[in-house]
Amino acid sequence: MKHFRSAITPAAQKMPGRYGGRHTVTALAGDGIGPEMMEHVKGIFALAHVPVDFEELNLNSSNIKQGENDLQEAITSIQRNGVALKGNVETKFDDPAFKSRNMELRKQLDLRANVLHCSTVPTVPSRHTGINIIMIRENTEGEYSGQEHTCVPGVVESLKIVTRERIEWISHFAFDYALRHGRKKITAVHKANIQKLGDGLFLKVVNDVSKLYPQIKCDSMIVDNASMQLVAKPQQFDIMLMPNLYGNIISNIACGLVGGPGLVSGVNIGNDYAVFETGTRNTGSSLIGKDIANPTSFLRASVDMLKYLGLSEHADMISDAIFRTLTERMVHTPDIGGKHKTSDMIRSVRDYLQEEMDLRK
Ligand code: ATP
Repeated sequence: MKHFRSAITPAAQKMPGRYGGRHTVTALAGDGIGPEMMEHVKGIFALAHVPVDFEELNLNSSNIKQGENDLQEAITSIQRNGVALKGNVETKFDDPAFKSRNMELRKQLDLRANVLHCSTVPTVPSRHTGINIIMIRENTEGEYSGQEHTCVPGVVESLKIVTRERIEWISHFAFDYALRHGRKKITAVHKANIQKLGDGLFLKVVNDVSKLYPQIKCDSMIVDNASMQLVAKPQQFDIMLMPNLYGNIISNIACGLVGGPGLVSGVNIGNDYAVFETGTRNTGSSLIGKDIANPTSFLRASVDMLKYLGLSEHADMISDAIFRTLTERMVHTPDIGGKHKTSDMIRSVRDYLQEEMDLRK
């Protein structure tokens, strides 16, 4: 069960939203299946007597026309509480002026790192066994600068902006993570053969920082080869350290390899705040109300959050219940080849939790 447990480190600082032994966290259900998943989390937390209260806010695509207030309210709430659990907010493609609220939130809260733990789960069908990779992605800059314009009709300039300061930060973050979690190797993913300055800087800074951590092996791989290696021989990777866009794509490939969007959780983290969400950041709009979405990724995001809050016992109890549901009872939703409903899975998680709590009485 251990490898399935959350690999999140408890926050170093005291959480601002902690009063009388209870934590207040911001809950942003978002669009699609987010609200349903949030209800499941709340039910499971209540059953497990988790000392967490949710400050629930609406941040979704239907209230966009009301202006930016809801985004600002969400940001203020997270600044107050330090932590959020979040569903994805749909981003419309058709309006070039419209900025992704997911991205705005990450930028304004300076959530510089995105971390995913992709590991194969026994009984969940996948092409490989033995995958156990930590994906660390720079989360705020690069191609996500939002700086694009049409120079003359038919010619668009789209700026990829990277800074030494953020590359240094994410490199230290990755090496510190490796030390804390007993990881042995970091592979920096880049395209420095073509993007000589931008990715060249990334590669140089990662290499420079690696010299401060002689215990951790550091190598590098060009992003196209990394994609091929990942699907062919994923077991060779331990931690992958990536700039923003490559990190997005490679993380999704890795999630796909271990079972898809319903399984893996992710965290966006900076110096001050942490926002927990699903690894692939999907909305799953076509699954709304059908009782077929896989709740694992959202539940695991909530478990990561508990770990971060220092509530390890609750976190482990819930993740063990999820793991046993997937592996002992084989309760599998259609996305991972099963016929079970979301509600079957939730019922089983609750049964295992109740069993464990009765044992502890
Ligand atoms: P859709 O509205 O069809 O869900 P989309 O293009 O917005 O489509 P995403 O939300 O990005 O899709 O999700 C990508 C795919 O992953 C979709 O096929 C979606 O149904 C599936 N998916 C997302 N989340 C889950 C989940 N929790 N369980 C099962 N499948 C999921």
